[in-house]
Formats: sequence, structure tokens, C-alpha cells
Amino acid sequence: MKKITIAIDGFSSTGKSTLAKQLAKHLGYVYVDTGAMYRAVTLFAMQNNCIGIEFLDKDKLVNSLASIKLNFKFNPELGFAEMYLNDVNVETEIRTLEVSSFVSTVAEISEVRSKLVEQQQEMGKEKGIVMDGRDIGTVVFPNAELKIFMTAGADTRAQRRFDELQAKGDNVSYEEVLKNVVERDYIDTHREDSPLIIAEDAIEIDNSYLDRKEQFDAVLELVNEVINTL
Ligand code: C5P
Repeated sequence: MKKITIAIDGFSSTGKSTLAKQLAKHLGYVYVDTGAMYRAVTLFAMQNNCIGIEFLDKDKLVNSLASIKLNFKFNPELGFAEMYLNDVNVETEIRTLEVSSFVSTVAEISEVRSKLVEQQQEMGKEKGIVMDGRDIGTVVFPNAELKIFMTAGADTRAQRRFDELQAKGDNVSYEEVLKNVVERDYIDTHREDSPLIIAEDAIEIDNSYLDRKEQFDAVLELVNEVINTL
């Protein structure tokens, strides 16, 4: 069967990665979470005093980019690939609210974006990939055969992210999480380089009232439609 490229974009905590993982598993495709890459660069920036509360040393970060190595390694027990920063597994650290609070500022930097976009395009060269992020259908793979744009109300998204963080034992308040979701949406949609916008040929899915199975079934139908036209 011919392999396609599936681009999934959308706002924070819309369940993009859950859907992308399900699809990749079902189709036998590679799954790439590009948010994890921006989060790993942010963690590097935090560890190397390039970013902190109310400060950003952009030049220092840009000058260090060559020494940032990002890799995904498949973890068979978990069934998905984990993020490695300079050969260290950072999958847990990159998901904290602290990293979330800085990541959109780091993701505004064009030099960071071009480094990551280049690596993402390389990973997708052979097709058979499901990639999720903010600019996949617009910048990374403008020729993707299927583009999905996911939305849901900010309250629904914040509640989902809050539940996830609580389940991991992170002591955060719902209000903090909601504030972060709204702030990231604002920065991601207003930045100059590759803002979060819906690609002209993307199919929008509002999953506020869809459960995981309904959403998966709907998207799988779209995938099959596309594959049948090839
Ligand atoms: O997907 P996730 O919420 O983990 O992404 C974290 C942040 O990384 C986003 O809020 C956004 O600022 C940035 N990002 C991006 N472009 C992507 C993926 C993520 O700017 N393709």
C-alpha cells in the first residue's frame, strides 16, 4: 500500500499526539512529536542559563544550537519514541509546566525553527509518517496528502492537561494550567515566523465533544479516502 504523509496541527492540548500515536500504530507509520523537540531545546536553554523568568539570552541560545543533538528512540515497552537531548532521555522533564511556560518563547526564534524544521523534513523523506505540531501542514510538509487541524475550547484543553499533570503527581493548579494554555495559544498564533494557522487544505476537527474512538474512526476514514485516490 502507498504510504502518505499525515500532518496534524492545532492548539495546545487538543489531543494531537494521542491521535497521531493511534494512527501511526494502526498504519505502521513513524510518529514524530515536534512539540517534544521544541520542549527539549527549551530544557537545554533552561539548563544553560539562556532563559529564565523574565529573561532570554537569545544570542547565547542561537550560538549553542550546533551543540544541541535531538533524537527519538523507540521504547518498545511504552510503544512510542522518547525524546533524547544530547543522548539523555528527557521525556519526563520536558513535560513539566515550567518547560511549558518557556517553550513558546523559544519556539519564536527563527534559528531554532529552521534547525528543527530541517531535521523534521529529513525524518519525513520516505513518507509513512504522522507528525504533529503547529506548522507541519503549512511549513514542514506543505505537500502532505492529509492535513488535520485540531481545536477544542480552552477550558476543555486545560482540564485535560491538568488531569494529565495531576496523574503524574505534578502539584499544579487548574488556573495555572489554563493560563499557560491561553498564553501559548496567543504566542503561537501571533509569532512572526511560522505562526499557528490553519492550512488552506486542512480538515478542521473540533474534538470538544468527541471521545478518542469517535475521533480516531473519523480520521481513519479520511486516511482511507486519501489512500484510495492515490
Ligand atoms: O505540542 P506541544 O504542546 O508539546 O508543543 C509545545 C510548544 O512548542 C507549542 O506551544 C509551540 O510553542 C511549540 N511548537 C511549535 N511548532 C511545532 C511544535 C511545537 O512552535 N511544530
